[in-house]
Amino acid sequence: MKPTVSPQTAAAQALGKIDPVPKGVVPPLHLATTYIRDPDNGYSNGFVYGRPDNETTRECEAVLARLEKAEAGALLFGSGSAAATAVFQALSPGDHVVASKVMYWALRNWLMTEAARWGLSVTFVESDDLSALRAAVQPGKTKLVWIETPSNPLWTITDIAAAAEIAHAAGARLAVDSTCASPVHTTPLTLGADIVMHSATKVLNGHSDVVAGALCARQDDDFWNAIKTVRRGQGGILGPFEAYLLMRGMRTLFVRQERQSASAMALAERLQAHPHVAQVLYPGLPQHPGHDVAARQMTDGFGYMLSVRVRGGEGAAIATAAQVEIYKRATSLGGVESLIEHRASIEGAGSPCPTDLLRLSTGLETVDDLYDDLDRALTLAHR
Ligand code: PLP
Repeated sequence: MKPTVSPQTAAAQALGKIDPVPKGVVPPLHLATTYIRDPDNGYSNGFVYGRPDNETTRECEAVLARLEKAEAGALLFGSGSAAATAVFQALSPGDHVVASKVMYWALRNWLMTEAARWGLSVTFVESDDLSALRAAVQPGKTKLVWIETPSNPLWTITDIAAAAEIAHAAGARLAVDSTCASPVHTTPLTLGADIVMHSATKVLNGHSDVVAGALCARQDDDFWNAIKTVRRGQGGILGPFEAYLLMRGMRTLFVRQERQSASAMALAERLQAHPHVAQVLYPGLPQHPGHDVAARQMTDGFGYMLSVRVRGGEGAAIATAAQVEIYKRATSLGGVESLIEHRASIEGAGSPCPTDLLRLSTGLETVDDLYDDLDRALTLAHR
């Protein structure tokens, strides 16, 4: 498919690949774990063995690389966490990392507990505060700045272009967890980031039936090769069936996410006026501290995730989640079904998440149904 074709068209047709023999409009699922060697002992096809090489996985990677404008390509992993940790494992012992304080809690825990075993030191910082970020990097020693924007579950916004400048001036790379923005709203590599990471389990797939992760890179350099070596060595590649489902999910990414983000915006506006809601956290709201940066670096909406702080504290928040009928009380995000979760009880001690916070992942139901469900649940919880 020509490079001039829009991302929406590229996604809808998964780059226009077809099944070459029967000319089916959907490419087949490739399951082979090994490939025939040439008579001269070579592998001129570029496929040797299933752990590094699978055609379905590569086709899916090509679609994502196109959407993220990733010149060096994309790599799929068995989960978002496998993708993220591969980036840290590609660093060298003694390297210093700066990471956002507000970020996916399990990765923050991994950085706090496991990264030291790889010889890494980590400084956590409020990455939306650029002077704090500037003060945290150690020129020559910091090799990676890791940010998540919008960041889970407070939806803080970090200025990607400014963070890239700070990282590069210190001799470090910038990696962005863009799970909640997705390439529909932000393409971090075009703003100066070096690596983009996704939990593809979320909106990229969008149907809550695949666990997957992805990395995309701007430059095909030593670091990207080191990440490939980690994936090959640890066997972290995404299986072909999951890649096939993920590619199917990405065909509808733009329509899903544009609708989900529009609904999240409408819900955020309506929930602000609710008597039992103390605060709505959503970067689309003008009073959100990251709104101006978000308006600059996000296009066509502000994402499908928002959080509400419930009047009456933790008990009222948990009681509200207990009363919903349309929202599903479950962890994760980005699927076609809306989810609600009391985050503090998952994240545990040390989390920056307030105890009165409910995280809302907005699906494809109507805004009226979702609002009525929350209104009813909030009212019952406050009886
Ligand atoms: N990053 C973000 C923002 C997430 O929400 C998650 C999962 O919830 C992850 C990374 C980890 O991804 P996975 O669950 O696919 O390992």
